[in-house]
Amino acid sequence: MAFDIDMIKAVYARMEERINTARKIVGKPLTLAEKILYSHLYAGEVKEAYERGKSYVDFAPDRVAMQDATAQMALLQFMQAGKPKVAVPSTVHCDHLILAETGAQADLEKANVINKEVYDFLSSVSNKYGIGFWKPGAGIIHQVVLENYAFPGGMMIGTDSHTPNAGGLGMIAIGVGGADAVDVMAGMPWELKFPKLIGVKLTGRLSGWTSAKDVILKVAGILTVKGGTGAIVEYFGEGAESISCTGKGTICNMGAEIGATTSVFSYGDKMRDYLISTDRADVAAEADKIRQHLRADDEVYANPEAYYDQLIEINLSELEPHINGPFTPDAAWPLSKFSAAVKEKGWPRELEVGLIGSCTNSSYEDITRAASVAQQAVDKKLTAKAEFTITPGSEQVRYTTERDGLLDVFDKMGGVILANACGPCIGQWARHSNDPNRKNSIITSFNRNFAKRNDGNPNTHAFVASPEIVTALTIAGDLTFNPMTDKLLNAEGQEVMLDEPKGIELPPSGFAVEDAGYQAPAENGESVQVIVDPNSDRLQLLAPFNPWKKEDFTGMKLLIKAKGKCTTDHISMAGPWLKYRGHLDNISNNMLIGAVNAFNDATNKVKNQLTGEYGEVPATARDYKAKGIGSVVVGDENYGEGSSREHAAMEPRHLGVRMVLVKSFARIHETNLKKQGMLGVTFADPSDYDKVLEDDTIEVLDLDNFRPNTPLTVALRHADGSTDNIQVNHTYNEGQIAWFWAGSALNTLK
Ligand code: SF4
Repeated sequence: MAFDIDMIKAVYARMEERINTARKIVGKPLTLAEKILYSHLYAGEVKEAYERGKSYVDFAPDRVAMQDATAQMALLQFMQAGKPKVAVPSTVHCDHLILAETGAQADLEKANVINKEVYDFLSSVSNKYGIGFWKPGAGIIHQVVLENYAFPGGMMIGTDSHTPNAGGLGMIAIGVGGADAVDVMAGMPWELKFPKLIGVKLTGRLSGWTSAKDVILKVAGILTVKGGTGAIVEYFGEGAESISCTGKGTICNMGAEIGATTSVFSYGDKMRDYLISTDRADVAAEADKIRQHLRADDEVYANPEAYYDQLIEINLSELEPHINGPFTPDAAWPLSKFSAAVKEKGWPRELEVGLIGSCTNSSYEDITRAASVAQQAVDKKLTAKAEFTITPGSEQVRYTTERDGLLDVFDKMGGVILANACGPCIGQWARHSNDPNRKNSIITSFNRNFAKRNDGNPNTHAFVASPEIVTALTIAGDLTFNPMTDKLLNAEGQEVMLDEPKGIELPPSGFAVEDAGYQAPAENGESVQVIVDPNSDRLQLLAPFNPWKKEDFTGMKLLIKAKGKCTTDHISMAGPWLKYRGHLDNISNNMLIGAVNAFNDATNKVKNQLTGEYGEVPATARDYKAKGIGSVVVGDENYGEGSSREHAAMEPRHLGVRMVLVKSFARIHETNLKKQGMLGVTFADPSDYDKVLEDDTIEVLDLDNFRPNTPLTVALRHADGSTDNIQVNHTYNEGQIAWFWAGSALNTLK
């Protein structure tokens, strides 16, 4: 599991030169995020990157991390790249597929049976291609990365939106789709629009009931769920320096909830201590040598308004604990105002379940603070009124906290220790509820609280707070309880108050673990067989997509003209379909079933031009494909917005769609279409959308003239014999046109 110290030394060796060059070219002092980004340019050309800074720049991340749900398709694709090994250190983490039901051991055993084929595949494919594999039960991706791989000044991508957790260790860590991970693992550049910068200056110091979680709960309230979009949030100030490394991780992790590209803290003593405590004194020693490059320039901290696009200041000494929710993580309530809000809004006052842990809040410090509250329940003869669950973020944290008697404290309070996995945080929760229609309240120390997220029940009001606040409210069983001011009645009828929580940042006897759950890959994976059961309905090896010929783009039938919003969820739904993320043919049965047909305003009901009958979109596409006829999807504005999932591009490609013609694209989806060898084009005149008729046969007339910056002509041949020739635009560059003719970007790699 060892991190690669030589790789880290190489990153640090080039930082100085790149930063000095960047300072000269940019002509001003640099923020931390800028320093790390300029140090990770793919081509190393700072000048070019600076000039292109308003558009997309190619980066070379140091690491890739994948969780089990998203790793399946990413690695099936990687197998197509024809590479013997991944180009950068990469890991897979089995954390998302474990259902929380009765407790850690039983739940893990069950998951190992139910998900066996997925785990066998991920384990064998990792073994073959040089990828570190973290078994089910080893822990949650971001916690394991923080403990083992994150390093100050590094750059990482991860196929999970909370990848920014590693910003707590000073890394630029960004959540991406599987296709991006494939590019980086195959040694290709990774493209990102040079982000805006939001500075958050923290003054004062946390104390009492207030913790790092409250910083991000407060920031979420200020910036809202969209406020960080396209931006890196950089925390600094004496308050930032005083927060523990894992507390910094919590703040960066939940930065995903404000839409931020990522969040980051500068290197300091807290990070150093954490590195040493997690057996990485050599990384700390290297980071110490270049400390000045692992923080913004002094001029930036002295005059931040001049260097950040937006600046926020929070005084930690005045910050109250917060509770955010329900239904959205940016509804931020200071604790002193929360009780009144509960009563005024009519939220269910009785608290049914308190859940602590997750990748966001399961550090040693979190657990000790929550345990110090739980211990009081025992000492002061209080009986917890609500159910209580604890999800450790990793086996290392679980083992260490068990050794130190902390899990025992939760047990005495009536808590259930769940597997080291996502569990209820991602809805993998068999909740014990006798009436799913009853409005009810739960509180978690997780980060997302959208309707149905935790238990699939739209009537559940989920709130988010720090682990210690969750523990206190769980004891009270009452959402309106304020542990700073209110008393509780104990078993002897006495009124008692809870004292302020006390935490220990790092285990005094050090971290320990017996079996961390890591499987190192084979030195030479050439003879390793990737295990895929040919009868599996969850996994399917991919076959390369065929290269194109010009005549493939004649005689195509309109499959659907989608009207209005068509996100990646409309194109490839999640929910129950998650199960098929590793089986392209099966998951393709959800293709565009959420899109509204412009001709009848119905979903999943389109005309099959060959039969005249109306049928489901995937079935109709399959019929055309079976007869060797290509099809076309037409769409409205911002087609493909939402998540970066590559399935939304792979499914149409698999079912014979050859062209996607829309008014405008969401950028990531447009790129994904290009990578899968699809023709993604936009109406030069958006009103031409109205010229597309239900019985159209479609042809691209001048595909042999497919060149950058040159529009194409599309013929819409209508059923009445008339034809409309329309102009369509595209954004393919030379390289992407090569992907197109080769049938996919992966085909060009071979
Ligand atoms: S614990 Fe929750 S937030 Fe963290 S990776 Fe798992 S699902 Fe995502």
